[in-house]
Formats: sequence, structure tokens, C-alpha cells
Amino acid sequence: MLTVEDALATILNHVVTGAATVTPLAESRHHVLADDLTTPHDSPPFDKSMMDGFAVASGEFDTAGKQTLKVMETITAGTIPTALIGPQAASRIMTGAIVPQGANCVVPIERVEFDEAASHHVTITDEVVNPEANILRQGVLAKTGQPLMKSGTLLAPQHVAVLAEFGVAQVPTVQQPTVAVLATGDELLSVDQPLMPGRIRNSNEPMLVSQVQRANAKAVPLGVARDNREDLRSHITEGLRSDFLLLSGGVSAGTLDLVPSELKAAGVAEIFHGVQMKPGKPLWFGRLKATEHTCWVFGLPGNPVSSMVCFELFVRTALRKFAGSNSPMPQSRPARLTESITVKGPRPIYFPCKLSAADAEMQATPVAWGGSADLRSTADANGMCLLLPRANAYAPGDTVAAIDWSAM
Ligand code: AMP
Ligand code: MG
Repeated sequence: MLTVEDALATILNHVVTGAATVTPLAESRHHVLADDLTTPHDSPPFDKSMMDGFAVASGEFDTAGKQTLKVMETITAGTIPTALIGPQAASRIMTGAIVPQGANCVVPIERVEFDEAASHHVTITDEVVNPEANILRQGVLAKTGQPLMKSGTLLAPQHVAVLAEFGVAQVPTVQQPTVAVLATGDELLSVDQPLMPGRIRNSNEPMLVSQVQRANAKAVPLGVARDNREDLRSHITEGLRSDFLLLSGGVSAGTLDLVPSELKAAGVAEIFHGVQMKPGKPLWFGRLKATEHTCWVFGLPGNPVSSMVCFELFVRTALRKFAGSNSPMPQSRPARLTESITVKGPRPIYFPCKLSAADAEMQATPVAWGGSADLRSTADANGMCLLLPRANAYAPGDTVAAIDWSAM
């Protein structure tokens, strides 16, 4: 059976980065940039006033202090100045407007004597009028041709804004994968059905769909396949049209655990079955490789927490690789345990935890977790920590590796 490390490395070896596409800027948040972009024009694109006030030539003030100047015009944002600022001249100017030729300073409106009724003159009361004050020169923020944004950037609102500033209306992005989600089991009821003897509700489908969405991929829910070959086969055929197919349940050793054999019958080659870990040991991974299309398939264990953990550890890694991430492996950080905890058995355990920031470091508080079927307790967790097999219990203050589920 593979170790977690080997399983992750195997997944990274098989999954390839998605094709590049273009996404309209308005829909680009949560997409990954597919190209390195360079700055297409200077920012700001012209010499720009940073204040409402008067544009003047600072040289005028070298000798005389207070001066009354002739007002040539008013320059508002978005208009083009027409008058040159020569001796004894000023132009009224608004924030964001082009600084007129001949001016090298904007004196804020608060520092002048100005009467709207006599708007042809302004008296500058400032003692010192510094060259370049309140002017943002063309290109000081970014110069044409400089690097703007790196391929692999996950686009957040600030990136969307920068792309808008530089006129990138169609953004080169990595295609978001489609991820089909198929729950299996004769016992499963939908969320709106009352309980019946021997039956439980299908919690894995909504869970996996929302995990797919959190990972910035497109979920394709396929409902439930019953534990018979015909129903499984038709649902699997449908799921294999997506870039990824996630099945839950039917991968263990039960008499109706038909998923591995039905996947193989559908042409999906098994890459591995079984990982040395808890929860999640029965995990199945394979690939359908057709001429035009590849689908990577995860058979996730049916127990809800096993499915959840396997998604966060393995499926997320595959999705990061598909998205072109430079660091697709799960990002674990050291965290200090707040409580003692005993580890039983020979397998590493991914234990649901409440992670919180404490001073410079992170703290991990294990939730009261009753094993792979105990979904309820995960509502108190926001991540998991890795507990390795060892003879003695972990003590409060021990450092463990923690994975935050909300981290990208
Ligand atoms: P299986 O791997 O199919 O044997 O399922 C293992 C356990 O997980 C069983 O107790 C199932 O009832 C449960 N289970 C399987 N699928 C789901 C699901 N979609 N939602 C909730 N529990 C499930
Ligand atoms: Mg089952």
C-alpha cells in the first residue's frame, strides 16, 4: 500500500495542467492566470494632479513669497488643458486631471485665497511652493514593458482591478476543470427525504460539491448510483465526460463495492488502490485516457470524514496541479497542540482540528472526533493535523503539521 507521500507524488505525475483559455475580466476572479503579463502602458498614463488646487510653475516663487496669479482655465479630470503656464499664470485643476505644460506643482485649494466671484485671479499664500508637489508623473507607478503579473496567479479582486487599469478585457486563464461528483449506495436518501429504516441521507454529494466549489473548480453533481452494475455503469459513463470524476463509496471490500471493477470495465486504468493513512485507506485513483480527452478518477471512501479528508489531501492537490499552481502539494504549517492526544494503530492519522492563530504561531485543538463516520464533529473543525504513529501520547505544546482547509 502506498504512503501518503507516494500517493501525492503519483497523482502529481499523472495529472497535467489544463489548457489555456480566455475569460472575460468580469468573470475572472478565482481563475488562474495562464501567462506572464507585461505592463502595456505607463501608469499613470499622463502627469496627473493629486489634489484639487492650482497648477503653477514653482520657479515663480523662488524670490517672491505670496503672489497673485492670473487663472488661465479650469482643468477637470478627463479634459485636456489648453493653456501654457507661463509667468504670473496658474490654472485651476482637479484631482486626476492632466497637469498643464509649464506647471510643475499643484498648490492645494486650502493654501490659496480664491473667490469664486473673482475667479480670474488667485493669490498663493504658501511660503514655499515645492517643485513636483502633488504631481504624479507619467510612468512612476509602472512603466510600459515592465513585468505586471505572473502566470499562476490566482486572481483576487486586487488583480481584477489591476487588469482593468491596464485594459486586459479578455484574461488569459487556465481552464477551470469540470469535476463530476457521483455518490453510490442503495442506502442513500436525498436531503429532502424523511429517514427510513436502514437508510441515511446522502451527505457526501453536497459536501464534495461544495469542496469542489471552494477549490475554484466547476462541480457537476450526478446524484446517486445504486449498488448495481447497470446503474453504476451509466452514471460512470456520464461522469467520465468531465475532467475529473469523484465517486464516493463502493471502493472497500463489501459484497456491493463494485466501483473499482466498473471503472476498469469503463476503460479507466487503475493507478493505485489503497493508501496507508487514517481515515481514507480505501482510496482509489485512476485515469481514462482517450484521444481527445483525459479524465482523472478518484474513488473516495464512503465514510464521510474519509471522503472529506481524501478530497482535501489528494483531490485538492490534483486540482492545484490542473490549475497550473507552482506549489500544488498540500501546504502544511507547524501548529502547537493545545491538548494531549493518543494515537492508536500503525497508520498516520489526519485528525480534524480547530486551527487558530496564537501570537506568532498556530494552535491546533483536536475536535471530539469519533472516527471516519463522525461527520458532525467536523463542523467544529477548520483543518486537520497529521498525527504520526508513536508509542507515547502527544502532549500539549507538541508541534504537529497542520493543513488549513480554507487555504488555497
Ligand atoms: P461504502 O464505502 O460504500 O461501504 O460506504 C462506507 C460507509 O459510508 C457506509 O456506512 C455508507 O452508508 C456511508 N456512505 C457512503 N456513501 C455515503 C454518502 N454519499 N453520504 C453519507 N454516507 C455515505
Ligand atoms: Mg456503499
